[in-house]
Amino acid sequence: MTQPRYSIVAPAYNEEETLPEFCRQIREVMDGLGEPWELVLVNDGSRDGTLDVARRLHAEDPRVCVVDFARNFGHQLAVTAGLDYARGDVVVVIDSDLQDPPQVIPEMIARWKEGYHVVYGVRSEREGETWFKLFTARLFYRLIGALTDVDIPMEAGDFRLLDRQVVNDLRNMREHHRFIRAMTSWVGYRQTGVEYERHARFAGETKYPFHKMFRLALDAITGFSDLPLRLAYLAGFLLLGVGLLVGLVLLVLRLAGSAPLAGQGSVLTVALLLGGTQLVFLGIVGEYLSRIYNEVRGRPLYTVKERIGFDET
Ligand code: UDP
Ligand code: MG
Repeated sequence: MTQPRYSIVAPAYNEEETLPEFCRQIREVMDGLGEPWELVLVNDGSRDGTLDVARRLHAEDPRVCVVDFARNFGHQLAVTAGLDYARGDVVVVIDSDLQDPPQVIPEMIARWKEGYHVVYGVRSEREGETWFKLFTARLFYRLIGALTDVDIPMEAGDFRLLDRQVVNDLRNMREHHRFIRAMTSWVGYRQTGVEYERHARFAGETKYPFHKMFRLALDAITGFSDLPLRLAYLAGFLLLGVGLLVGLVLLVLRLAGSAPLAGQGSVLTVALLLGGTQLVFLGIVGEYLSRIYNEVRGRPLYTVKERIGFDET
């Protein structure tokens, strides 16, 4: 196979209904560009017929390659594998559920030709999403913006074009808890956005329920900010200050002959407050510790059962 100029990386988890149409649209768009391309489908341990469909798509068009995970590793790791396997000078990461329109890719490539290394898709509109999803998504970006020191563009998802140089840098970042959006901001280079309308899903339903969003938010914060760890200082000093003040006031009142706050109620309140604060920070330390433990074990990021369409070299 000739070295592809463009690689399209698409993670797929239970997308058997959507995949053929997705592939058709990719082929239509990419053939219009008149340069060799490949589509790297990463089957993230799907439980439906996604792998069979992908196999068939490869048989019909050898430019469609498949990386088949040995189990479900999640969207961020599926994208990571796609970046590891992609061979093009330019890599475009896109969801395979047709929420990100492939028709935007030529525009991204045009910006790349102008000299940008990263071109991210900015969602100007979102169809078919619940208010809860929109609300939590907004909260998520606010929180990450406030806590971390990388600039993550609002309303930009993982739909983006990456230059080979950026892909190589990302491939050197082997952390287990990954938030690829922030990682691509972190590497630097010239970056820009193009607007697009995010469609409703073509078929099936979202595989990003609230608890996965929550985990992603935790990965983003712990991966790019130490602020939560240092908050213990702030709370500690604050409580110490309040404690000293209260002690002083009580002492003065006692010397003046009155004894307010007698009784167990006040003691209980203070004990609960202190205990609660300590446990919260213990939890935060534990959160970081478990991530350190994960990294130290040094396991591979994912396991691959089968590769289809890649030369075995
Ligand atoms: N996906 C994946 N592994 C997962 C969950 C999702 O590879 O564990 C893929 C999925 O097939 C889709 C993309 O990641 O192509 C985005 O997932 P989804 O559409 O469910 O998320 P949403 O668009 O609702 O945020
Ligand atoms: Mg989707």
